[in-house]
Amino acid sequence: MAARGVPFRALFVLGLNETVFPRTIREDAFLRDRARRVLGETLGYKIDEKLGGYEEERLLYELLVRSAVERLYLCYQRADADGRPLAVSSYLDAWLRDGEGPAREPDVVVPRRLTDRLSLPQFSPPMLTREELAVGLVLQDRDPSALLEASGRGALLFRNGAAASREMEGIAGSLGPYDGLTGPLDRHWSALMERGLAPTPLEQYARCPFQYFSAQVLGLEPVRDRPDAEVSALVLGELCHAVLNRCYRKWCDGGWPGSELTRGRLHADILVVTDEVFADYAGQHGAGYPLLWQIAKETVADLTLAAALADERECRASGFRPDAFEVEAEGALEQAGGPDLKGLRVHGRLDRVDRRETPPGLRIVDYKYRHGSRMKDEDRSLVQSAARGTRLQPPFYAVMRPCGGQPAGPPGPAAVEFIFLAPRWESKVERASFDPAAWTGPAGRAIAQTVLTLVDGIRHGQYFVLPDGYCDHCEFASACRRFHGPTWWRAHTAPAARSLRRLRKQKVSDE
Ligand code: SF4
Repeated sequence: MAARGVPFRALFVLGLNETVFPRTIREDAFLRDRARRVLGETLGYKIDEKLGGYEEERLLYELLVRSAVERLYLCYQRADADGRPLAVSSYLDAWLRDGEGPAREPDVVVPRRLTDRLSLPQFSPPMLTREELAVGLVLQDRDPSALLEASGRGALLFRNGAAASREMEGIAGSLGPYDGLTGPLDRHWSALMERGLAPTPLEQYARCPFQYFSAQVLGLEPVRDRPDAEVSALVLGELCHAVLNRCYRKWCDGGWPGSELTRGRLHADILVVTDEVFADYAGQHGAGYPLLWQIAKETVADLTLAAALADERECRASGFRPDAFEVEAEGALEQAGGPDLKGLRVHGRLDRVDRRETPPGLRIVDYKYRHGSRMKDEDRSLVQSAARGTRLQPPFYAVMRPCGGQPAGPPGPAAVEFIFLAPRWESKVERASFDPAAWTGPAGRAIAQTVLTLVDGIRHGQYFVLPDGYCDHCEFASACRRFHGPTWWRAHTAPAARSLRRLRKQKVSDE
């Protein structure tokens, strides 16, 4: 608009595409042009008509075209940045029809690819910006370091980046340093040996070594919380643990489950403790939507009552009594897994330790919250899951003993039990047991071999990606190159990845 009536020697008119020039003009749906005209003609209220804008656009175009004295360039895009075709402005119809329109020079077609453009005189080096020139040199497979250095643009960063990129893009060959093969990391390994192996990080390595590397070696943490409308399964699990612990401590101090408590009393205590635990949690992290928070509270209270009633029956039958909660424990794998596992100590925090007087025995109990609709095989058969590396808590707990001021007792646990709290399963409380004697049979040898494979991977610094269905929920997906074809191929065909995948298919009997 500002250029109307101004003459130019040379004029470039940009954006001669439909919906740009002329722009899109629509009638007002609430006050059509016809109604505006009637208001103006009959009542004298002049309101501008919308579709008249097309004539203004046309006038503007004609004025611009006539204002160029020597040269006129009419520019339009054939495709947008994503390659979708764009319609040419209807103003150019006459120019583009062969033999019609004013006499003109041949069209200049600018290719979309920068590599193709660089051969045009309009894109010769003196016409380019520093950035375009640097990118052009890279695309022509020439080193732009000197240019970057002269213009103070991070030549070293470019050189290192280019070397890494060349290595990563090579399809053939085995895993390299850019695929997570860091080689032995002495500091991490010594710290691990000093404090002992924990089952959960080792399960993480069995799932995906790169996930382990991100979480355990680099200590990365997700910067964004997932936007969950519902209270997540992780939080529900934490809340269940807290309510169970507080309730059991209180009841066990009063002699439960030896002395019976009525269902009404159990329920009343659970409601009070649930309110306290939820208030504590909300004070630190917030409660979210009140309705969902109330549903979560009822779910946790229901599960706790079901677990207490089931435990009461089971403890009377087995003779075990809950004895200690949230206990630090440690042990040595060599005791159960043989000399191959020499020097490997394990440690963990036990949710609950049960004790039996006659015959004397310990039982380790771990609570697991499950959100799914049915029990998975890996939860049902703890021996097989241990051999596959997906559940290492049971075999590790089987060699642990509570540390520090715990009363002396039998040499090791008689059983490790998982108590599943699952609001959607047919039975809300299920148990699965791991017999420590499994360490002595063929299953024990398979478990020992699995632990060795995982520990060797960590010792030698093998942190490649191992993609599978769990990637959809991985917190480190944004730092991972699993979609990069050459990386995926190298990781998929690597012998170390094959041996981890083989572990997942092992079949061992619970006997
Ligand atoms: S997204 Fe998949 S492959 Fe990548 S780190 Fe996570 S689990 Fe591993």
